[in-house]
This record gives sequence, C-alpha cells and structure tokens, in this order.
Amino acid sequence: MPKNKEQKKNIDIQIRPPIVVIMGHVDHGKTSILDYIRKTKVVEKEAGGITQHVGAYQVLHQGKLITFIDTPGHEAFYAMRSRGAKVADIAILVVAADDGIMAQTREAISHIKHAGIPMIIAINKMDKSGVDSMRVKNQLLEEQIIVEDLKGKVPSVEVSAKTGKGIDSLLEIINLVAEVEEIKSVTQGKAKGVVVESELNHKRGPTATLLVREGTLKINDILVFSSTHGRIQNMEDFMGREITEASPGTPVIVVGVEHVPLVGEKFKVVESTEVAEKLLKEEQKKYSEEVEVVEVREDMKVINIILKADVQGTLEALHEILRGIKNENDNMSLRILKKSVGEIMESDIKLASAANAFIAGFRTKINQGSENFARQMKVDVVLSDIIYELVEKVRAKIDELIVTEKRDVELGSFKVLAIFRTEKSRMILGGKVLSGEIKRGAKLRVLRNDGLIGEGRVAQLKIKDKEIDKIDKDNECGILYDGPVRVQVGDILQCYVHI
Ligand code: GDP
Repeated sequence: MPKNKEQKKNIDIQIRPPIVVIMGHVDHGKTSILDYIRKTKVVEKEAGGITQHVGAYQVLHQGKLITFIDTPGHEAFYAMRSRGAKVADIAILVVAADDGIMAQTREAISHIKHAGIPMIIAINKMDKSGVDSMRVKNQLLEEQIIVEDLKGKVPSVEVSAKTGKGIDSLLEIINLVAEVEEIKSVTQGKAKGVVVESELNHKRGPTATLLVREGTLKINDILVFSSTHGRIQNMEDFMGREITEASPGTPVIVVGVEHVPLVGEKFKVVESTEVAEKLLKEEQKKYSEEVEVVEVREDMKVINIILKADVQGTLEALHEILRGIKNENDNMSLRILKKSVGEIMESDIKLASAANAFIAGFRTKINQGSENFARQMKVDVVLSDIIYELVEKVRAKIDELIVTEKRDVELGSFKVLAIFRTEKSRMILGGKVLSGEIKRGAKLRVLRNDGLIGEGRVAQLKIKDKEIDKIDKDNECGILYDGPVRVQVGDILQCYVHI
C-alpha cells in the first residue's frame, strides 16, 4: 500500500465509545440498571437533561464515553442481530441473584455467543437478604460460562440497581473490556449504522433514533433503510440538542424519513434520493413468500403463524425476530406459514383456519367483516403497532396454545393407611392402590372427605425397601410424597399425569 494511503487509513480509523446492550431474563433488573445509570451518570451539561426516551444514551465514566442501548425488551438486539446488523460491542448479562438463570437468560447467552461479542455478568439484586452470587456463578458454569472468580475469562460484578452498589465497578469493567477490545471505527466518509428506536411523532412525523457505526452522519444526508428512505432535515443528540454531525458510537434522533423504519434495520448514507429509491426497490425484490422449513425434533410442537405487516421491510424484520422465539421448555417450533403485506383479509383467515394457525399483524389492520369472520372461524389474530408488544403477544399466544394442548390423564387412586415419616415438604406414606395404577413421578391430588385439599407428586415408590416404577390395583406400597399439604391417614390420593 502506498505510504500516504496507509497513513490516511490510520487517521480514518479511530477508537470510539463502546456500544453496550443489557440483556437477561424479564424482571431481573435490566430497565432498573439502565435507569440508575441514566439518572446518576448522564452529564447534564444543559438544563433539563434527558427529556424524552430515545433508545440510547451516553455516559462519561473516568473520562471515557460509553453508549448504552436503552430499548424496552431485548428484542431490539435480537432484531438487529438477526438482520445481520452488528450493533453492540459489549453485552451485559443481567442475572437476578434471587432468581438465578432462567429461560430468557439462556436465550440471551445464546444470542450473545452467536454475536461473538464480549460479555460481562452483572449479578443484580444483591441488596436482597440471603442471596448468594456464588450460586449464579455455579449455574453459569452449566452454560459454559466461567467467570473470573472461578478462574475463567468472563468478568462478573455484583450490583444492585436499587442501592447503586457495584454500578461504578460495572462501568469500570466496561471501560476495561472496551480498552482490551480496541473498539474502533472508520470516522470519515458516508455514515452507516442501525435503527435502535423509531416512532411516528404526531408533531414531527416519522422519527428514528440511529446509532452511527461508522463514518460521519451529517444533516441533509440522504439515508436508505431496508423499508424506507429520506433526507435528514433535523438531527438531535440524545439530550434533544440540535446537532449537525454525529461520529461513530453516537446515538442521534433524525427527522425526515418517509416512513417509520423498524428497530434493527440498517441504514446507510447514499449520494442521492434516486440511488436510495433504486436500492430500496432491489432490496424489496429479494424477499419471497416461501413457506418456511423448520427443524422439528420429535418432542416439539409446531405452531403455525401467518404474518402481516404494513410494508415489506417491516414484514421481514418481524419474521426475523419471531424466528428467534423459543418457549420456556424449548419444545416448540414456530413455522411461518405465510407472510404478506397489507390488511388481514378473509383469505388469510381461511388459510389460518385450514392450517390451525394464528395471525400476527404488525402496523396493519383487520376490518370489521374480517374480524367477524375470524371469530366465526375461531382464528386468533394478534395486532400491535409496537414491535416488542407484538412479540410479547405472540409469546403469550404460543404459551396459551401449548398449555391448552395439555390435559390430565388419570392413572389410579390410592388410600393412605399409615404415615411413616414427615419432613418439611415430603412424607413417607403407606397404603393400598384402590384402582388403576400409581406411577413414580406422576402427580397427585389429595382428597379428604371427597374434597380436594391440595396437590403433590410421587417422588418415589417402594415395596419392602425395593424401588419400583409403578404398582397396580389391590397392592400395598410406600410412597415418598412430595407436596405442600400434610397428608393424613384415610386420605385418598388420585394419581394422574399432565400431558
Ligand atoms: P427488567 O424486566 O429486567 O427490565 O426488570 P426491571 O428493571 O423492570 O425490574 C424488575 C423488578 O425488580 C422491579 O420491581 C424492580 O424494582 C426490581 N429490581 C430491579 N433491580 C433491583 C435490585 O437491585 N434490587 C431489588 N431489591 N429489586 C430490584
């Protein structure tokens, strides 16, 4: 490479603020940590501070800027990643010390690992009594995450969003990780980046919070997204102050796009509106309407869904977000049966009815006639104009579908004739099988004088100290009962399984 070109390249690439995303299970304190940092660390140079929610903010810690993505729910991050948009440089995995690792923690771990970005563990709610951060660290081992305390490489910090304990250490660790990672970007030339939040503002029209990843974004620049385009008429920083330029790592609010772009969409600056329109057309031609082939394990239930959205770009984004959805037990696979742009029509409802699917509509409508038709055909339709709300509705629908599919299968009944031992939540009972069979692991209803007094489980079954899996009618056995109610002699236990 000629020397002057090399020099130019070196000048162009500069260290920039790290972009940090906070992920973890619902209620583990993501919002509280972001709120605490925003309230205590954003330098309020001018009166007012942050007056509106903008989806990202910056703090200065030990002389270094850190950019936090501050969007509701971590779907935003999923959306960005699944659209191939690299947005965050560092992920904070929040785990509540009192709750430990949960389904969405695992989901978040998987997303972070796939994104290939460094992770920092924040063990939150350390102000609560009786919590032990070691428990979380050990649980993390099962997820192949070894924290530094256990001689691994992943930094972890104990925090409390309530008292603020450990938040400074968290920021310090972010700075250290950023330093090691040497987070750099090209600072000159046309900007590229991603949408972190967007809305239709009734005064200003479509507005979008963008994160610049490289280049410099300038007022009057022509932007192209995958669903829309526009010229920047107005640009503000996250504090609402007008600016004319934004460098990499900086969140900005822009006004001037034709339609509201979707969270997670990438954007780039092009030379003219004609070029933007041409690129947009090409992008939209790429999409097809194929039925998705999903990977299905034997123990999985396939749930069919039809997607509708206002424009092709948002439809694709919705598809990609939903693709990442898993349920609590990872025993469900979501199959996108059809996706199309426009209102929800009778043809969609017919297809849904035939395929036992439900319909999710994003920024679209259903007219009264079709709504009645859907009701008549018993087809469920979930609608929202807010992406994470729609995703939550889809999640709820999936849970509902999986639960309603389950039913109780009666196995047999058992009469309690003796109580051999009583522990905190367990009892050893002796008795006789009155009907059917009793199985190890099955559930129990405890009946007294024909009334239900509680539930439990067959933890173990024994005949004369020998463990067995099941026992039939008229035989006597011992049951290790697990459950909150105290069983008494004379109680009837109904044994069933929930499948
Ligand atoms: P998110 O769903 O992960 O964003 O969780 P939130 O930030 O909404 O927090 C869920 C609940 O936990 C709220 O009631 C918070 O007040 C509470 N919470 C969050 N952080 C802490 C903490 O450090 N200590 C305690 N005691 N409660 C917390």
